[in-house]
Amino acid sequence: MTPLTITDLDARIWREELDEFVPSQVYDIHTHLYSWRHNLDPQKASSGYAKLLGEQFAEATTELADACDAQLMPGRSVERLSFPFPFPHPCDFAGANAFVAEQARMRAASASLMLVHPGLSDDEVERELDQHGHLGFKPYRWYSTTGDAVNCRITDFMSERQIAIADRRGLIIMMHVSKRDAIADEENLRDLTELSASYPNAKWILAHCARSYSAWALERAASRLRELPNVWYDTSSVCETDAMDALYQGVGCDRVMYASDDIPVGVLRGKYITFGYAWAYLSETNHSMSLAHCDGRMTFTRYEQLRAMRRAARRLNLSKTQIQALFHDTAASLVQAARAH
Ligand SMILES: [Zn+2]
Repeated sequence: MTPLTITDLDARIWREELDEFVPSQVYDIHTHLYSWRHNLDPQKASSGYAKLLGEQFAEATTELADACDAQLMPGRSVERLSFPFPFPHPCDFAGANAFVAEQARMRAASASLMLVHPGLSDDEVERELDQHGHLGFKPYRWYSTTGDAVNCRITDFMSERQIAIADRRGLIIMMHVSKRDAIADEENLRDLTELSASYPNAKWILAHCARSYSAWALERAASRLRELPNVWYDTSSVCETDAMDALYQGVGCDRVMYASDDIPVGVLRGKYITFGYAWAYLSETNHSMSLAHCDGRMTFTRYEQLRAMRRAARRLNLSKTQIQALFHDTAASLVQAARAH
């Protein structure tokens, strides 16, 4: 059971725009499976996360993710690369990592990544990798040693020693880059270029179209990114056709992978919007627009993202094989390569 209801508006968007586009086999490369109990903040009941992650989606299991996918993309078989939700410190990292590993084991081709912070010792990391079979790492900018989650560099929130472990074991690093200009930031580009060259067996995935919610960041960065052979991209939560177009064209479609950012982002009603050099989440409850002249209801973030993926695919006239790669084959091969190492 999920808390989701499919309205006539959702059903129409799926039927008229998306059903034909989404292939029968899907590999979702960016999914959060977690339990609210791993958030150790004593004030969590009054925190900004409480309603959504404490009440509505307090336990994000494989079963719940399956049920959400069955409602939103009926008839598709979905495998996933999952990792915990990055609760800020204090977070029960070991508990969250054990939970996601157990959930991922329920599907043969699914896998998990380990939530890491720079304070973890090599021994702790290696032991957890061996114990749970994680295929890589999920660092997050909350855990920056600088205390600044907005302007931190990659190695501020993921130690180079952890990157070296990923390199030695051929593992995946799910990277949500920080900074105001995201992937267009010169320091981020230089760091990524140097780190991916120094650690060539680490497999980087830049989340959210390299955190380019509209086209400008990718337009600035793509010519340098496409030179990096061990970097891939996920499309999770990006809702703009121009961003997808910049990604498909800029880095090459064969490096791009579908992802939902469930749970919960993909299943929330709303959309990431952009203006100027900004991006923000627009939801049913955080605006005061007058919408009396039209059908003002919102659909799922996932559907807005799939619409953007489809329109950009149409612009480039992607073949069925390329679309199949986008939704499944590239991700399945990447996970397989990390597993086989
Ligand atoms: Zn995410």
